[in-house]
Amino acid sequence: MKAREVRAILEAHGVRPRKGLGQNFLLDETVLDRIVEAAQLEPQDIVVEIGPGLGALTARLLEHAGHVVAVELDDKLVEILRRRFASEDRLLLVHDDILRVNVPQVIREWLSPPEPLRYKVVANLPYSITSPAINHLLESRPPPERIVLLVQREVAERIAARPGDMNLLAVRVQLYGQPRIVARVPASAFYPRPKVESAVLEIVPHVIPPVRVEDVRGFMRLVEAGFRQRRKQLRNALAAGLSLPKQEVERLLEAANIDSRRRAETLSLQEWEQLYRAFASTTWASTSAKGAPG
Ligand code: SAM
Repeated sequence: MKAREVRAILEAHGVRPRKGLGQNFLLDETVLDRIVEAAQLEPQDIVVEIGPGLGALTARLLEHAGHVVAVELDDKLVEILRRRFASEDRLLLVHDDILRVNVPQVIREWLSPPEPLRYKVVANLPYSITSPAINHLLESRPPPERIVLLVQREVAERIAARPGDMNLLAVRVQLYGQPRIVARVPASAFYPRPKVESAVLEIVPHVIPPVRVEDVRGFMRLVEAGFRQRRKQLRNALAAGLSLPKQEVERLLEAANIDSRRRAETLSLQEWEQLYRAFASTTWASTSAKGAPG
């Protein structure tokens, strides 16, 4: 679609792009191709799209996959989508906030698919919910078998970071799979143009997980504590973040074979695992599990 066509559709329905909902519509056909290619869609696939907008990507997904669940929050866009795809019974349009949707449950209720359930997620994500949306997807049971996202380029790079430059989201995503930037996308590919560049990011679950973490929430509480004061050395960041005496933290870091003066961003996933195992044997693990939500 050209920018003027998108404008015309929006005007015809009295809709203005809502910045708060990250409404930057994708115009570039090549980028649509790259997203669909990265998703490696098969005719039997079930795909979940977050924020279908005017349906540019939705139409492509329907061409390549068996069924599409599209979750859109905006009332007016849902109306436009309902009209555009009125005769499409392979599409389930869900009018809701993706963060409140139990994706596997919606799919099961609609299609009663064979178990174990397999589905992919593809989205041009609204920038404001990038992190919560990714966390929400990874917490789903089962999580998606492949995720392809168009996100802010800087966020894509942060997610694909290596030790030395790690952050909380990178640890969470890399625990699940291997992130890879598939393409860079200039602001001119959207209407209206965002202020920043974007990138297509694919995340493929590990076949053999690089670390074995049974209690992901407990593990992430430790990692979060480490990153809460990321400029600090680990011994100080963890003592403050976990409300533990510094000597105790130093002892555990030593037990995990990690120099206590290092910073959270330098740790690899394997080192977080070593540290987690050291902490899991202390009273911190049981008290933090009790105090934790869910
Ligand atoms: N997929 C379309 C495209 O590529 O042109 C639109 C993408 S636009 C960047 C983001 C879309 O997500 C908008 O349609 C917006 O209304 C929708 N959206 C924003 N927040 C949402 C949420 N919490 N749940 C579901 N959809 C949301």
